[in-house]
Amino acid sequence: MNRRALFLSCVFFLLLAALASCGPRRESAPSAGRLQVVTTLFPLYDFARAVCGAKGDVSLLLPPGVEPHSFEPKPGDVVKINEADIFVYTGDFMEPWAASIIKGALRADLVVVDASRGAMLRQESKNHGQSAEGRDAAASHDGAPVDPHIWLDLGNAQVMVDNILAGCVRKDPKNRSFYEENATAYKAKLRELDEKFRKGLASCETRLFVHGGHYAFNYLARRYNLSYVSVYGFSPDAEPSPRHLADIVQEIRRHKIKYVFYEELLQPRMAETIAQETGARLLPLNGGHNVTKEDLQKGVTFIGLLERDLDNLRAGLQCR
Ligand SMILES: [Zn+2]
Repeated sequence: MNRRALFLSCVFFLLLAALASCGPRRESAPSAGRLQVVTTLFPLYDFARAVCGAKGDVSLLLPPGVEPHSFEPKPGDVVKINEADIFVYTGDFMEPWAASIIKGALRADLVVVDASRGAMLRQESKNHGQSAEGRDAAASHDGAPVDPHIWLDLGNAQVMVDNILAGCVRKDPKNRSFYEENATAYKAKLRELDEKFRKGLASCETRLFVHGGHYAFNYLARRYNLSYVSVYGFSPDAEPSPRHLADIVQEIRRHKIKYVFYEELLQPRMAETIAQETGARLLPLNGGHNVTKEDLQKGVTFIGLLERDLDNLRAGLQCR
């Protein structure tokens, strides 16, 4: 080989090396062959972990402890979604920002899972107290917003698991039976939990569930035949009216309610005020949207959170 040919082949190999290092970087060394799944909320994260098992690396977009209703993705989050194999979100009513990301410059081979497909959706009609029912409606015809907390109906939770399963199978069809077995086993656990709630809340001193937090538990309340009143609306941002607070205090007195529930991840300011006003005691509940950093490190699960909620509901509603 003459010197010119040697020089040219060196340049060629340098170019190849440079091209390789500039190509799409997937940081796949430690997780080669595993599905990269990005999820928005904690329930989706936990469902996806259950379905993917050892064949997936699942991450949670929401930083631990962050309030999910006002969450907006940063440019880095958009990059993360774009680098994933599968992106799982709750639905347009929970993550309104997802629509523009999906319409935008996403890779053609990214599988997007709208976990609410086929789920039973409820709408809030008035005053965080009553709700109307609807099916597959992102917004109702009468303009009432969809209650985004669909994961707190354990029938919906199973539909969400199936939607995630469909996403995994689409992306990695050769491991279909692996994902199917995982999903089946996890749905069996959800059904068992559903049964625990049904039995545990069947016979209680009161069926009025008074919540000092935001309107997160209506799906759960309706599934187990409880009436639900919350201080805040769908999102904990908007302050309740003095009139609404006075109504709640009156309800507590009229029904001789002994316990008021508060939101585990937020300052229980309103719940404390109501407790002081009525002499009711306080118990925590976790709506599961998100968890603290400590809980995440401890390996808390969606089912574990709901079991704790059930214990507190049984104590607060004085169930036998
Ligand atoms: Zn919420």
